[in-house]
Amino acid sequence: MRALINSKPDMMHDPSSGPAKQIRPLPPRRGLHGPLLVGLFLVLASLPLAAAAWLSGIEPAASLSELATALGLVAGALLCIQFLTSGRYETFSGRLGIDRTMGFHRIAALALLMCALAHPLVYLLDTAIADPRAAWQRLTGLVSGDRTRTGVFALCGLATLALFAVWRSATGVRYELWRASHGLLAIVVVGLTLHHAITIGAYSAEPSVQWTWWLLALIATGAAIMVYVIRPWRMWREPWHVANVTSAGDGAWQIDLRGPENAAFSFLPGQFVWITLEPNRPPFHDHPFSIASAPHELPVLRLLVRESGDCTRHFGRIAPGTRVAIDGPHGSFILPDEAATIVMMAGGVGIAPILGMLEHAAGTGDRRKFHLMVAGRTPRALPGLARLRTLQNRLDLTIAAFVDTPTAEAGFIPRQITQPDIAAIVGDPAATLAYVCGPPGWMATMTDALLETGLPARSIHYERFDYASGGGRIDRARLYQATAVLAILALAMIAFALR
Ligand SMILES: Cc1cc2nc3c(=O)[nH]c(=O)nc-3n(C[C@H](O)[C@H](O)[C@H](O)COP(=O)(O)OP(=O)(O)OC[C@H]3O[C@@H](n4cnc5c(N)ncnc54)[C@H](O)[C@@H]3O)c2cc1C
Repeated sequence: MRALINSKPDMMHDPSSGPAKQIRPLPPRRGLHGPLLVGLFLVLASLPLAAAAWLSGIEPAASLSELATALGLVAGALLCIQFLTSGRYETFSGRLGIDRTMGFHRIAALALLMCALAHPLVYLLDTAIADPRAAWQRLTGLVSGDRTRTGVFALCGLATLALFAVWRSATGVRYELWRASHGLLAIVVVGLTLHHAITIGAYSAEPSVQWTWWLLALIATGAAIMVYVIRPWRMWREPWHVANVTSAGDGAWQIDLRGPENAAFSFLPGQFVWITLEPNRPPFHDHPFSIASAPHELPVLRLLVRESGDCTRHFGRIAPGTRVAIDGPHGSFILPDEAATIVMMAGGVGIAPILGMLEHAAGTGDRRKFHLMVAGRTPRALPGLARLRTLQNRLDLTIAAFVDTPTAEAGFIPRQITQPDIAAIVGDPAATLAYVCGPPGWMATMTDALLETGLPARSIHYERFDYASGGGRIDRARLYQATAVLAILALAMIAFALR
């Protein structure tokens, strides 16, 4: 395999190595650092709870009743914050990346649903233990009562949101329709929840607690207006258009976008953009795609797109000149300056952001050692490979291309990547960074294999095109971290109940 890895391409001329272009300054990296983000989340999620405990002046009732109240207060706050964890706010979650942000969004949604469901039930727990029939009567009274109506509707709306999100693929509903309904229903549920809290809650009737609800409502509404109104409007300000569409292998396309010469848009290599094609102007029609070109190629942006559904199947037929809107840049899958050796692993179209990073490295004369492993079903399912081989002329880059099916073509290894293949290129774990992008299951296997080489989890960076669906060891560690953050909220609720 060494011989294959180190083979250089036969290219005599690299068309992109023409006259050097003025390199635009890269934008700063955005986003809060992890501990600050966790702190901000916990402060916002416990705001009504803290105001009820310290500012309301109300004497605490029995512990179970207080716990039920705490569950309601935290559920309402979590609901409002969910608008900020939708993956669109780089100012907050830019350093975390879309994968972790959306993963947290899902876990927080589950916690929120559990708190909301437990909220009425815990009020009835005392009665249920003493007299189950009386508890049942109280429950049916609560469900059918006029005063609790908005709370019941909010709970039903919340359950619908969660069930629809989990079973969206099974229902066959179009992604865009799901996104539109998810956002709109979430806004309605916030309205119902706030009405319920303020009209029925003893604590929430107090002005000192009420202002926390107005603040959270402002955050939720502001975030929704930003995503559904301001961003879509801003996206169309710069006149970007499709310059060229070419085949990039089986079921994949290379799309070249061109913006104005003085485009304000800039990005870090490896980031992605949300794209909307004319005439699909509504905000729910944008799709995320990694940028497969380097910042110095602006105002040209190159995408590699694999056909997977209604939107991407249409990409091969886009006419040059079609207007396109971009929102970005987004994402934390970027290459830092440190580390002597960079190991990169791409499955299929997962090569897109890695190609962007390598284009940048070649354009800026990066002298570091790059090892790239690409994997696909067939040689034709490896988009961008020819281009990568030309980059070997300008970089210290080894490429190993693995394919699932036997092939007579030279330069391909007809088997899957194994742990020893990875161990052979990692070298000194302290001086190596790894970048992985590809199908979810494949990525879990690759990141686990990288961990086995002794590479610490913090040195393994990955981005999934189907966010938050991973099952690798790093994914599980992240899940535990998110659960630990939510457990702090659970402790705060218990402290509130026992005070
Ligand atoms: C950060 C990121 C970067 C990506 N980069 C690339 C890339 O460089 N090249 C590439 O080919 N693909 C990329 N994707 C995947 C690409 O966005 C989806 O394949 C595309 O949106 C599918 O749309 P569709 O209508 O063709 O298919 P659909 O059948 O509508 O969707 C197929 C699946 O794609 C996902 N998806 C659909 N629409 C969206 C959306 N608007 N937002 C998020 N997920 C969606 C859903 O999980 C859905 O089940 C990326 C995804 C993410 C999250």
